[in-house]
Amino acid sequence: MTDTQRNVILLGAPGAGKGTQAARIAVGYALPHISTGEMLRAAVAEGTEMGLAAQRSMEAGELVPDEVVIGVVRDRLALPDAEKGFLLDGFPRTIEQAERLDAMLAGAGRAVTRVILIDVPEDELVERLAGRRLCKGCGKGYHVLFDPPQNDGVCDVCGDELYQRSDDNEATVHNRLDVYRAQTEPLVGYYEARRVLKTAHGGGKMPDEVFAQVEQLLEGD
Ligand code: AMP
Repeated sequence: MTDTQRNVILLGAPGAGKGTQAARIAVGYALPHISTGEMLRAAVAEGTEMGLAAQRSMEAGELVPDEVVIGVVRDRLALPDAEKGFLLDGFPRTIEQAERLDAMLAGAGRAVTRVILIDVPEDELVERLAGRRLCKGCGKGYHVLFDPPQNDGVCDVCGDELYQRSDDNEATVHNRLDVYRAQTEPLVGYYEARRVLKTAHGGGKMPDEVFAQVEQLLEGD
């Protein structure tokens, strides 16, 4: 492992802004942005065997089985662009996934170098998820109240149509938050114990303000 390698994980509840921050970090630090949610949604859209197996869990707001997701990440981390560093968004989500990732990296003499937790109060998460919209073409995210496009339902960047994720409806959102608390939040302690966790405060903050914190947390010891 080189000293300069950045093997970064973004941790946070659904709606905390992981995707938004990940896009900025990926550009700012030239890291491949690896989102398991995006890879799984692509598999669903393509109708692959894995996509079909994952679809039901995703629509219910449940986690896709560890074995499936770990396989996806292992294959992705084996690609050349991830050799010198990566940014994981939405993985790991269970202690099992975290342990398997550590083992995978250790096998290559590598380790997770930084975990950034984006902390946002729960009532704000619900509001953010309910108003979230995404571009079908380029994937850019919007919010109907806090970050609307110039023309209703149309992407400012590529002009394609905006859509709402099928798991961003209110009933599924509550389940996703329960799943986060039960299965993913224990990772905070896991990474605290390994002294790699830093917290960015996202409550009531604009993406730029959160990114300024994230930059400091990535630069600091
Ligand atoms: P996301 O886009 O990160 O919110 O992920 C959307 C959905 O994909 C989640 O609600 C899960 O059903 C599934 N998913 C994404 N990442 C993982 C993961 N690391 N482990 C299990 N399921 C995942």
